[in-house]
Amino acid sequence: MRCPICQLEFLSSSSPALPFCSARCREIDLGRWLGERYGLLTMPDPEADEEPENDWAQKENSPPVSD
Ligand SMILES: [Zn+2]
Repeated sequence: MRCPICQLEFLSSSSPALPFCSARCREIDLGRWLGERYGLLTMPDPEADEEPENDWAQKENSPPVSD
């Protein structure tokens, strides 16, 4: 049979994660399903938004230090 995720042909008797070829493909499918249902995978993480642009912007605007 053929894996719906990676399109790899495999023996159904050799797979631990039918109808997928492997547990990895099963997780990929599960992730897609959850992502479509909740949109979690496409949501930006607010905790990770530290606005790194501010850092270089401040340095850019500050006058150069001269000795
Ligand atoms: Zn697969």
